[in-house]
Amino acid sequence: MLIVMRHGATADEVQKVVSVIEEMGYQSTPMPGAQRTAVGLVGNDGRVDASRLEGLPGVQEVIHVSKPYKQVSREWRPEPTVVKLAGGVTVGGTEVVAMAGPCSLETERQVLESARIVKEAGAVILRGGAWKPRSSPYSFQGLGRPGLKLLAKAREETGLLICTEAMDPDGVGWVSEMADIVQIGARNMQNFSLLKVAGRCGKPILLKRGISATIVELLLSAEYLLAEGNYDVILCERGVRSFDTMTRNLFDLTAIPVVHKLSHLPIIADPSHGTGLRDKVIPMARAAIAAGADGIMVEVHPNPEEALSDGAQTLYPDQFTQLMREVRIIAEAIGRRVAEPAAVGA
Ligand code: PEP
Ligand code: MN
Repeated sequence: MLIVMRHGATADEVQKVVSVIEEMGYQSTPMPGAQRTAVGLVGNDGRVDASRLEGLPGVQEVIHVSKPYKQVSREWRPEPTVVKLAGGVTVGGTEVVAMAGPCSLETERQVLESARIVKEAGAVILRGGAWKPRSSPYSFQGLGRPGLKLLAKAREETGLLICTEAMDPDGVGWVSEMADIVQIGARNMQNFSLLKVAGRCGKPILLKRGISATIVELLLSAEYLLAEGNYDVILCERGVRSFDTMTRNLFDLTAIPVVHKLSHLPIIADPSHGTGLRDKVIPMARAAIAAGADGIMVEVHPNPEEALSDGAQTLYPDQFTQLMREVRIIAEAIGRRVAEPAAVGA
């Protein structure tokens, strides 16, 4: 529920609303806005009797949020959330961000070379996994913590921001210490205890859609993060499992405008996992930007045929460079622009 205060309501009137909400046994979140202040009421599972709040001085109206993903919904917050990252990079505003890099971090040379390649092409975020969720326990599982050191070195050298996946609560601690964005992967989208830890880690979260998750389930998982006080959440469409095995997943482009309508959170697209096929990544990345995605995540490797994971969907450096050229034109055609890399290491 949202308690919208009158324009010019005093701090005491807002405080009174907060105390009544707390007396009623719920939590309150005051949300000062440019036009007016609202106070959110959370902690309820069902409709709340608003009669005590409606009559309080300074209260203009009480809005019952109809969606189960309350704080994530547009009803809660009509204007888009713009996640602010280091170096002035934003996700969810006018800028479109590109995050790119190898699926797995493998060696120092591979990480640094990948960082240089993706920066040169125009990515602002280096993304690569130190821990990889693999279907087989015998497949390469990632370098673990030493991988984070390589990412730190790449950031120092290039100025790229860092996004990498945390697979468990310890991982959230390590990743949030060094990375700019903590990724929660598709397989963990409904690992609710992990989401609670991630919601408290103090860093922006990239939450990927589960392999067979509905859009509502994705939004409810994001609600776990917001319920812990973390509003810096970026969603990611990465395809869902389908009956058709022609591509690795069914890349659900429709999810982008659907999420934008239902939620104020930004959503980026991952056509690499969404299609699983290098030659399909490029058209779907272009289409995602045209559909309004706030960014793209693309797997790029200096030598994709030698990649220890996901080589078949990984772009060659020159393909990524060409894709970025095209993405700039598409973004401009819809009134947006591609976030440019910082000058560090240039
Ligand atoms: C990844 O992004 O590295 C990954 C493993 O993707 P997903 O969680 O979407 O399968
Ligand atoms: Mn991958």
